[in-house]
Amino acid sequence: MKKPRPYNKLEGIAAAPGVAIGRAFIHNEEVPEIPKRKIAADQVEGEAERFLNTLHQVGEEIRRTQRLVEMEHGAELAMIFEAQLFMLEDPEIKKQTLTLIRERQCTADRAFSVTLRQARKMFEQIENEYLRMRISDVMDIEQQVLIRLAGGELRALCALRANTVVVAHDLLPSEAVELGQRRVKGLVIDGGGANSHASIIARSLGLPTVVGTQSASHQITSGDMVVVDGEEGVVHVNPTAPILRSYRGQVQRQRQRQLDLNARRDLPARTRDDCEIALLANIDVPEEVQAALDHGARGVGMYRTELLYLGYRLPSEEEQVAVYRRIVEALAPHPVVIRTFDLGGDKLSHVLESAPEANPFLGWRGIRICLDVPSLFKAQLRAVLRAGVKGRAQLLLPMVSSLEEVRRARQVLAEVEEELRQEGVPFAQTCELGVMVEVPSVALQADAFAAEVDFLSLGTNDLTQYTLAVDRGTPTVAELYDSFHPAVLRLVAMTVESGRRHGVPVSICGELAGDPLAVPLLVGLGLESLSLSPGLIPEVKEVVRAICLSEARELAAACLTLKTGAEVRQRLEEAAFNLAK
Ligand code: PEP
Ligand code: MG
Repeated sequence: MKKPRPYNKLEGIAAAPGVAIGRAFIHNEEVPEIPKRKIAADQVEGEAERFLNTLHQVGEEIRRTQRLVEMEHGAELAMIFEAQLFMLEDPEIKKQTLTLIRERQCTADRAFSVTLRQARKMFEQIENEYLRMRISDVMDIEQQVLIRLAGGELRALCALRANTVVVAHDLLPSEAVELGQRRVKGLVIDGGGANSHASIIARSLGLPTVVGTQSASHQITSGDMVVVDGEEGVVHVNPTAPILRSYRGQVQRQRQRQLDLNARRDLPARTRDDCEIALLANIDVPEEVQAALDHGARGVGMYRTELLYLGYRLPSEEEQVAVYRRIVEALAPHPVVIRTFDLGGDKLSHVLESAPEANPFLGWRGIRICLDVPSLFKAQLRAVLRAGVKGRAQLLLPMVSSLEEVRRARQVLAEVEEELRQEGVPFAQTCELGVMVEVPSVALQADAFAAEVDFLSLGTNDLTQYTLAVDRGTPTVAELYDSFHPAVLRLVAMTVESGRRHGVPVSICGELAGDPLAVPLLVGLGLESLSLSPGLIPEVKEVVRAICLSEARELAAACLTLKTGAEVRQRLEEAAFNLAK
């Protein structure tokens, strides 16, 4: 009988709520060493052919998965597979492997493994962080080809089974999207923070996730039974029967709670004293539109378009028109706020050349790239304006830090409008332009911005990172990252106040909007529009319906007098407790 694997409990950071129970799959697991063995001279050509056939087979597998994903989820998502195909079809890799087989009489397994290890080393030395992270594609391809050569089934990402918990050392935002589209149950990531982009995507896709586990990918073995507790931020590996029983009960209760909430989805989001709060959806991929509609969203408050740009080629204007039009039409007459591509930081395009940066989150990011690469920016603006004919599209500029950027963007927008007019292409004549308030300078100058834009959207994820000088994706400083910090709250209050003075709507699209604890505070600060992950809308609506605006205002005023984030949290917990009574 097989010896049971020992129980182990790993601590991390709760990144996406819920509990997932499943078998572990180690993403980009090391491929075992292949024994050195020489083949006979007369076997060389057979071995070369075996290698080429395997490459072909794996390529077909990937293309098949790509087609399935494209059919189910659209072309943008399927572009993720381009990276792997690109690697698989690299002529240098093929040539070098064949040389090793033919000249050194290596087995195909050994020759390919040696070649890819060299490729990995090369990637490891690359300074560009995005390209360095493409190592995961090299490793995934290595795994897939070697397993095939050894006569096994594909065990890599494209062959994930149901009830899988993916354990990864690092996960790119695009990989998180990819996993969400497969039948993955939950995620465990050694790196990252609760507000790194992979975590945000996991929350959007409803995947219970624990991040910052440091060494889970080494401590867990593929096939281990794993419980991901996305509420407490712990991972139970090979749990005992009582632990498993207790979590199964929790999963049942979760399901029931979700059903109850969904049944109440059409109730209005009004406070007890009849103040309407607009609940909109943040989406990362167009496929989330359905979830937004299913959860009763009154529009899309922020569509993060940058995922369209993370494939191996940039999206054309026509492709973008098709994507934006689909979303705008689906949500009409409600608004769809399309944020121009916020590349940079942890979302680096490998198509756009960029110099290595010591601090990518302070570097070439968001509006800075939009303005520096006008051809890309213009194509996106044209696409949004054209899609706007079908409903109500609004433009939102990311990572703005000074008014000049807004003025320059307005100028580009005017040029684009003129070009479309000249070409006789129909477009939305009145497309509102807003800015993200996510850099402290914008909050501090909110009056000046409010005088020049149509709306403001508070991005508390970055606002917290930039106000407190705490990287949002680094586990070692995760405890310092606190959106309830009084300094952050003051910037939020200042922004709301400036918007009110200028009659400019202010909404919030940072993750704080989806935190039930924060909702009374945000409403009390004067926010009337919250944009959050679709799946969190029902829960937040319950809170809105339970509060009274006048009490929320008192609560917010009290919170603004407190000195630390911990004091604010405690005050909000007391308020939540009183609500629940
Ligand atoms: C934010 O910074 O709060 C935000 C919503 O944008 P992102 O999370 O995409 O940086
Ligand atoms: Mg941001």
